[in-house]
Amino acid sequence: MRVPAPLHRTLHRTRRRLVPLALLAVVTAACAADTADTAADAGTAGTVTVYTGRHYGAEAVFDAFTAETGIEVRFTTGSDPELRERLLAEGENSPADVFMTADAANIALAADAGLLAPLDSPVLVEAIPAELRAGDGTWFSLSRRLRVIAYSPERVAEPPTTYAALGDPEWADRLCLRPGSKTYTQSLVAALIRTEGRAAAEDIVAGWVANDPIYINSDTDMLRAIAAGDCDVAIVNTYYLARLLENEDPEFPAALAWPEQDGAGAHVNVSAAAVTAAAPNPEGAQQLLEWLATAGQERFSAANLEYPAAAGAAQASVLDGFGTFVADDASVRELGDFNADAVDLFAEVGYE
Ligand code: FE
Repeated sequence: MRVPAPLHRTLHRTRRRLVPLALLAVVTAACAADTADTAADAGTAGTVTVYTGRHYGAEAVFDAFTAETGIEVRFTTGSDPELRERLLAEGENSPADVFMTADAANIALAADAGLLAPLDSPVLVEAIPAELRAGDGTWFSLSRRLRVIAYSPERVAEPPTTYAALGDPEWADRLCLRPGSKTYTQSLVAALIRTEGRAAAEDIVAGWVANDPIYINSDTDMLRAIAAGDCDVAIVNTYYLARLLENEDPEFPAALAWPEQDGAGAHVNVSAAAVTAAAPNPEGAQQLLEWLATAGQERFSAANLEYPAAAGAAQASVLDGFGTFVADDASVRELGDFNADAVDLFAEVGYE
């Protein structure tokens, strides 16, 4: 099934132009408010300031922490790279105590840039498996985000079982993908480079490009495109379908397939958090991280219908319908190391 060129162009151009501007507006407004507030509050023991790349459910979780501990949480949202750049620009004067991301690469890159403070926390080390936290204690995953294959159960009898299979000619003009500017795409390809090697990863991505994908910079919109018949397969984070099933339509016409079940496992990205090197309130910040990994762990992961990071924590019940799976936890700590390679690879093979 071929999507007419005008639709392709409209989707692509609209996303590219509007999303960054909208994000910029949010960040700018939040900055203005923060600058005024934090001057008075810097160093106040009862407040923790969070820069967060997570966009869903943050407030209710922070409110629960405040209710239990009396520590107030102020937070500013933006994209992971924007907030990382901001930490770098602010340096020692940053009001941020905690950097929280929606992706593993950005927090690792922040650690590499010296923006994060290593923690000595037996609580965090016990709660979070070693593969999901930095070896030097600079950052800790708080939820797992599985990036898998979505498909139309009506039009696809046998979904692809590997990321590479999306490059099979069978999927020509039937594939929706997120642009390479998105960290989710970068981390997926970083994991492919790590596991398969650079040349093989390049072949995989070139196969996707050869299938003339529709690039859509929203996982939700890719799932809606499957429902609308504009594409038959896509790569999405599981929680986007979980949200549609839970909040919109329990019969939403898209299904998930777990890739790489005979190999490295489905790609795992994470939401992670760290105490910043310049934190005015490092004690409160560490307390927040420890709470999010323990008493607040199920609430935190369920707020966005993600999988918990802490061993033994229960997942949101809507996820039970997706079944069990083999996951590539082993790549999480190295997604930052291969980020630049992934971005470079996109340019090389003409991936948008
Ligand atoms: Fe997301």
